[in-house]
Amino acid sequence: MTASIISGTEIAKQTRSQLAKEVAQLREEGVAPGLVIILVGDNPASLSYIKGKRKASEEIGIDFKLEQFPESLSEEDLLRVIDSYNEDSRFHGILVQLPLPKHIDEIAVIEKISPEKDVDGFHPVNLGRMLTGQKCFLSCTPAGIMEMLRIKGVDPAGKHAVVVGRSNIVGKPVGQLLLKENATVSYCHSRTRDLSSITKQADILVVAAGKANLITGNDIKPGAVVIDVGMNRNEHGKLCGDVAFDEAKEVASLITPVPGGVGPMTITMLAYNTVEAAKKTRS
Ligand code: NAD
Repeated sequence: MTASIISGTEIAKQTRSQLAKEVAQLREEGVAPGLVIILVGDNPASLSYIKGKRKASEEIGIDFKLEQFPESLSEEDLLRVIDSYNEDSRFHGILVQLPLPKHIDEIAVIEKISPEKDVDGFHPVNLGRMLTGQKCFLSCTPAGIMEMLRIKGVDPAGKHAVVVGRSNIVGKPVGQLLLKENATVSYCHSRTRDLSSITKQADILVVAAGKANLITGNDIKPGAVVIDVGMNRNEHGKLCGDVAFDEAKEVASLITPVPGGVGPMTITMLAYNTVEAAKKTRS
C-alpha cells in the first residue's frame, strides 16, 4: 500500500481563503482583526517562524505588528508591554514568541496575556477550558492536526490514537483533543519502554518528539494515519520530520509530509484564533 499524502499546504490554502472572506466581512462591520507578536532577542528560528506568521496574517487581511526588543529586556518590562497590549483594542491576539531568554520566566509571561487574547492557546485558562470541553483558544499545532483529520474524513471515534511526545504545546493537548473525539488515547514519551510495540497498535499515530527517523516503517500498523509534527534538520541540513517518510508511506494509509504538513496548518490556526478573537469584540 502507498499512502495518500495529507497536504497541509493545500488544506491551509483553503482555510486561509475562507478566513480572508470572514476578515473582509468583519472589516465591513468596522472590526479590523489585529495580531501583535512580541519577540525578545533575534533567534533566527524565531524570526523565520514569525516571517511565516506575518505572511499568513497579511494574506488573510489581519493587521500584523512585530514588536521586537533586545535580549536584555527585563521580565518586568516585558510584563508591562503585555499589559499595554491587553488594554489595546486594536490587537485581538497577542503572541509572545518562545523561547524567551533564560532570565525571563516563561510561565509568568504566558499567564500575563489576557486569556481572551491568548491566540497561541498556552494560557492555563485556555488549557483548562480545553480539558473540560469548553469553548476556548486551542493551541495551534493540535488544532491544525484535528482540522486536517476532519477535512480528510478521519473520525477518531473508537480508534486507538497513539501520541509520541508529551509537551504542553503539542503532545498533551493533541491527545486530549483526540480523546474528546472519542479515540482511545495512549501517550508515549522518552521514558516509554518498547515504543515500537505501542506505535504499532496505532490507528492514528501522532509523532511530536523532535527526533529525526524515530519512527520507521516497522513501527507503523498497516493502514494507519500518520501525523508527523517533528521539525528537524538532517545531516545535509534539510528539514525533516520524526518519521522516516519514504518507508512509512509504504505502510500507512494517510501521512503528512515534512515540510508541507503540520507546519502550514499551525500558522493557519493562529490566524483562525485571531479572527475568532476579533469576532468576539463585535457589538
Ligand atoms: P519537546 O522537546 O517539548 O517535547 C518532545 C517530547 O518527545 C517529550 O515529551 C519527550 O518525552 C518525547 N521524546 C523525546 N525523545 C523521545 C523518544 N526517543 N521516544 C519517545 N518520546 C520521546 O518538543 P515539542 O515542542 O512538543 O516539539 C516536538 C517536535 O515538533 C519538534 O521537532 C518541534 O520542532 C516540532 N514542532 C512542530 C510544529 C509545527 O508546526 N510543525 C509545532 C511545534 C513543534
